[in-house]
Amino acid sequence: MTISQNDVLFERAQKTTPGGVNSPVRAFRSVGGTPRFITRAEGPYFWDADGKRYIDYIGSWGPAIVGHAHPQVVKAVQEAATRGLSFGAPTQGEVEMAEEIARLVPSIEQVRLVSSGTEATMSALRLARGATGRDKIVKFEGCYHGHADSLLVKAGSGLLTFGNPTSAGVPEDFVKHTLVLDYNDVPGIEEAFAEYGDEIACVIVEPVAGNMNLIKASPEFLQALRELCTRHGALLIFDEVMCGFRVGLAGAQGLYGIKPDLTALGKVIGGGLPVAAFGGSAELMSNMSPVGAVYQAGTLSGNPIAVAAGMTTLKLIQEPGFYERLTATAKRLAEGLTDAAFQEGVTFCADYQGGMFGLYFSAEAPRNYAEMMAGDRARFNEFFHAMLDEGVYFAPAAFEAGFVSAAHDDAVIDETIEAARRVFARLK
Ligand code: PLP
Repeated sequence: MTISQNDVLFERAQKTTPGGVNSPVRAFRSVGGTPRFITRAEGPYFWDADGKRYIDYIGSWGPAIVGHAHPQVVKAVQEAATRGLSFGAPTQGEVEMAEEIARLVPSIEQVRLVSSGTEATMSALRLARGATGRDKIVKFEGCYHGHADSLLVKAGSGLLTFGNPTSAGVPEDFVKHTLVLDYNDVPGIEEAFAEYGDEIACVIVEPVAGNMNLIKASPEFLQALRELCTRHGALLIFDEVMCGFRVGLAGAQGLYGIKPDLTALGKVIGGGLPVAAFGGSAELMSNMSPVGAVYQAGTLSGNPIAVAAGMTTLKLIQEPGFYERLTATAKRLAEGLTDAAFQEGVTFCADYQGGMFGLYFSAEAPRNYAEMMAGDRARFNEFFHAMLDEGVYFAPAAFEAGFVSAAHDDAVIDETIEAARRVFARLK
């Protein structure tokens, strides 16, 4: 029997890295088994340490929207690297990136670049508190906004995987200002504002949620958030780290036609390298240091190589028909899988928005965290491993959204659906 290099590396990794991974969901704890150690990626594929090829549906958890190692992105990175790796002083690239984001995202006039989505939401929150002089924040169960202390309350994805919706090491005092409400629940948010309206600094929401599988906000819910925030002087923050430039060129705010006060971005805007951002009106952003009193900084913020990858990706997604094709790809996958499951008599459905999709082992797509948790997780885990054997890599937890890229052509999607058909037949 040949020994898998994935097993060898996993055993080795666990000696020097907690759980063998640098981000919890990668450890396969939710689905069991050995994580695949990736050696290279190209287009819609990546390869593990045994040389096995997978059709990749996580796309680095969102950034790889134009496909892995896109030649133009790689070229931009190589060229930028020859000019120097990091300067700690401003560059023209950062100016161009800020201009591009402000041009594309309806609610953004000014933007600050940071290096992770966590930093983006954490800083947006500090800005909201600084600008309003209030402490309380509202979030929704199952929404994940990174791992800043006051946001680690009933968050999704990796935390759900561990069945532990908060985290050790977060003082009660930090989260006592965080109100957690149900997603898509209009009466819930009305009650919260009726009781605490003049104490709420902001409401933060994933307008298309991707950390409790894929769950779309209803238009009424987002509209209610907008109206209540405006009426009570609170700020509305859209966390578009995942859905920004993923569900459409103008993000979820373009899709729903609702303007938040602040937007957090990440993933796609770095094209696979660490760039994230938060932005809003010039007036609101003038509260940021060095102009205003809200402090925020970063040694590698606006890193020239990361900005080169991000800018090239932002150009590629503006090619005519990009989102029409991406949406058609996600639709083909979601409908093909649903159809195959139906034919094999497996209770399953799928949904999509732009280049994001959700797979549910339930009769209907969930509308909130509780409905998502009611899905058949054991079934998902069986499906996940069987698909992995077939050479298809879905997110290793039932709580995660999936991602397609421009490199997933019809043949790749059809290969996936045929593999799923074989797997569904065995799941019966
Ligand atoms: N916000 C959302 C909606 C996310 O999906 C994530 C990460 O998955 C984050 C924030 C945190 O981003 P990062 O992992 O870059 O810190």
